[in-house]
Amino acid sequence: MTIETDFKVGQFGKIGEHMVGFELSKRGWIIFYPPYDERTDIVAMKFQCKKCKSPWFNEHRIACLNDKCPEFEKPITSINSKKEYKNKICKKCENIEKRTEDNAQRGICQKCKGIMEEIALCPKCHKEIGILGKNCSKFPECDSNKYEVLFRSIQVKSSHLVDKEKNIGFNFKYQDLIDDDRHFLIVYNRQIIKDIERHFYWVLTKDDFMKIKNMNTTSFKIYQNDRGHFSLKALEKYKFNEEEFYKVQKEKLKALKDNKKKDFEKLLKKQQSIDVFRKLD
Ligand SMILES: [Zn+2]
Ligand SMILES: [Zn+2]
Ligand SMILES: [Zn+2]
Repeated sequence: MTIETDFKVGQFGKIGEHMVGFELSKRGWIIFYPPYDERTDIVAMKFQCKKCKSPWFNEHRIACLNDKCPEFEKPITSINSKKEYKNKICKKCENIEKRTEDNAQRGICQKCKGIMEEIALCPKCHKEIGILGKNCSKFPECDSNKYEVLFRSIQVKSSHLVDKEKNIGFNFKYQDLIDDDRHFLIVYNRQIIKDIERHFYWVLTKDDFMKIKNMNTTSFKIYQNDRGHFSLKALEKYKFNEEEFYKVQKEKLKALKDNKKKDFEKLLKKQQSIDVFRKLD
């Protein structure tokens, strides 16, 4: 007899990689899976503000850039459907016409026969709309217009409980440990607990892993057949505390809804401090 309602053995490793990918996506990482079996399972990329390191919106933001205007630096959305911004300007005499249905296709100035071009003007101050470029998620408190891109490589180890569920077992090869501070190991484990499927994650830096793994055995260094059993107790501090994370998430959403900015900031910090995935930041 076979049970057809669970993963095939060979699928488990990939499932771990995807589950880890989902967790990273929730934290703003853009995820890439190498198409071939390479030394890394996931490459992750993130944009952040160069100044305050907050998440950076990868979007095109435009605004009125006239600092005397009440609309100054207020991001404008869906400008294409807003007629009040659309105008035409003559390159020669600087005559401005509102873009209407009857002049939309006309490119010649009626005053001087010069060439007319599209121009987006602020409906309040009639100055030109420009690219804001200040895409820090903390804007307007942070006015940085510079961002940086982070890259991380991640080795995912899909594991099983072993030794009467005291330890966790996964294969680890010498070449899995890329010697770079941007490389991380994430151990994944799936269990059915009280008839509910649960997913567990342990996030380790390269140096964390060196602390729990004895690298100096012949079976590891030379034969490469060292299937590691790691004590759950030793791994505890690297474990993702999902319950605590979502408890704070709920409080965070409530603070946001109630417009309690200070509480929200406090909860954000609290959540980041308990979230082991933040090691990658
Ligand atoms: Zn910033
Ligand atoms: Zn003209
Ligand atoms: Zn304006």
